[in-house]
Amino acid sequence: MANRKKLYEGKAKILYKGPRPGTLVQYFKDDATAFNNEKRGVITGKGVLNNTISEYMMTRLTEIGITTHFIERLNMREQLIKEVEIIPIEVVVRNIAAGQICKRLGLDEGQPLPRSLVEYYYKADELGDPLISDEHVTAFGWASHQELEEIVAVTLRVNDFLSGIFLGIGVRLIDFKLEFGRLFTDDNVQIVLADEISPDNCRLWDIKTNEKLDKDRFRRDLGGEREAYQDIARRLGVLPEMGN
Ligand code: UDP
Repeated sequence: MANRKKLYEGKAKILYKGPRPGTLVQYFKDDATAFNNEKRGVITGKGVLNNTISEYMMTRLTEIGITTHFIERLNMREQLIKEVEIIPIEVVVRNIAAGQICKRLGLDEGQPLPRSLVEYYYKADELGDPLISDEHVTAFGWASHQELEEIVAVTLRVNDFLSGIFLGIGVRLIDFKLEFGRLFTDDNVQIVLADEISPDNCRLWDIKTNEKLDKDRFRRDLGGEREAYQDIARRLGVLPEMGN
């Protein structure tokens, strides 16, 4: 980490210049935020857990042919990634009603949705990441029709695959958020999965007890955040030896 050039600091991660052109180092912090930064805290060891959980998910997704920005995990808190141009859209998939959609549409938490829903939010903290439609995405040029089509196709594949992985460890994938980027290689541009996949951006409920094993523990002051993240890592078989 020493003398590495910091390029960007977000709420839960820092991006540093990578060792080779076209690479970045993604550092996972323990900081937790919710409700558009209104609630802030620290979940000790979260960065280490999210680093390994996300490594696991990105590696499994690569194995089924999904292109991601992930190259390799460097150490407990850092991973090497490909530099991409982030598309300013948060893509949310919902299988079961929870969070914002319950308030917005008057649904009960835990209600299965008629089918998996894909939603888009414009990444703009100052606006509170507003819900938008595909019309906004293409009209404002945040992504082309073709790019959006690919994003949706990949997102639905990720949903099916991750739902299966989590089911296998006794966890229901309620909803999650993905981010995508453009990878420029010579004269080619490719859409790749970016950011992270971890209990920070997935809702994960124990299949038998419906216990929440994700950031909702922090959002709702339920306590036991670190233990919940550790539980997910342990069930996936990637619990780091020391959790900080
Ligand atoms: N999510 C996220 N980052 C955001 C907003 C949402 O990772 O800025 C994730 C969240 O963890 C959940 C899913 O996207 O798994 C849907 O979140 P929702 O829209 O219900 O918003 P929330 O209730 O989290 O504010």
